[in-house]
Amino acid sequence: MFDFPHRRFNPLTGEWILVSPHRTQRPWQGQRESSGRPDLPVYDPGCYLCPGNSRHGGRRNPAYRDIFVFDNDFPALLPDVPAREMDACGLLKADPEKGLCRVMCFSPRHDLSLPQMTPAMIQKVIAEWGRQYLELGSLPWINHIQIFENKGAMMGASNPHPHCQIWAGQSIPAEPAKELAACSRYMQTESACLLCNYLGLELQREERLVMENGSFVVVVPFWAVWPYETLLISRRHAADLAELTPDEQRDLADILKGLTVRYDNLFQTSFPYSMGWHQCPTDGRPYPQLHLHAHIYPPLLRSATVRKFMVGFEMLGEPQRDITAEAAAQQLRKLPEMHYCAASANASPAERRS
Ligand SMILES: [Zn+2]
Ligand SMILES: [Zn+2]
Ligand SMILES: [Zn+2]
Repeated sequence: MFDFPHRRFNPLTGEWILVSPHRTQRPWQGQRESSGRPDLPVYDPGCYLCPGNSRHGGRRNPAYRDIFVFDNDFPALLPDVPAREMDACGLLKADPEKGLCRVMCFSPRHDLSLPQMTPAMIQKVIAEWGRQYLELGSLPWINHIQIFENKGAMMGASNPHPHCQIWAGQSIPAEPAKELAACSRYMQTESACLLCNYLGLELQREERLVMENGSFVVVVPFWAVWPYETLLISRRHAADLAELTPDEQRDLADILKGLTVRYDNLFQTSFPYSMGWHQCPTDGRPYPQLHLHAHIYPPLLRSATVRKFMVGFEMLGEPQRDITAEAAAQQLRKLPEMHYCAASANASPAERRS
């Protein structure tokens, strides 16, 4: 791969990013500050997501034992909005937007994030994602469902209790709309699915491959912007999480656990990220160009505390990175498969002290 400054094209969005690999030639021995074990209690009486606790706004959570889904008490979208539009010379344009926002707690355990959950627990989360997609998608006025997890204070998560959000709206939001348009253009010219072909190339070349199993593959995409950004792609040309077979759900649970354990091990910290799924819109139209995938965007660059900022040239010009996608993939591939907390828990007391 190029070792000089170059721009890479993102075929999913039609945008470019600047890569400056020569800047990483200065060796970085790292600052490997570890933030140690994330010491969270199993239950936190002050957490508004823990079972039995009351939330802001006065509602009380049930004593749930599995997954718990509820309507967000402070939703960004509302089901009833006035049908008022605005268009002044095409310059001042606004449309009303209806929607629903839900919160989904992965389990009653305040202390277990995805890398610490068992694959069986994660599989329940995946099955619930599919159920939510079907339930919300069956509402005639809901046309798109965005499932995402913001993990860590660095990503703006207001509560450490492992949870994700589901925003269901009337419109296809800007990012998936860009991708759908690009994949549709690709399908018209190449008579093939963009992500099926991309996956084929990555499996052949292997240099950006992080993990794979029978049903899913993780790569650092060629056009990654964030240092350790990954793309999780189904091997099969699937459209949504609801259509996954139990075997595929199990494979997805395994790979989600494996990937998030590697992330935690990278800087020995509870690794922050924004992760989300791109699935078929639910407006009833056909989207043959859509191929189920998740984007994982972690902000960290060199240690548990040194993050990448998208400022300056990136705000005004275009995104830029130093470490190449190939180098990031290689680093992630080489990490141990056992979570660093479990590894240190299994170590002898003397080893743990050192
Ligand atoms: Zn909690
Ligand atoms: Zn495909
Ligand atoms: Zn996408």
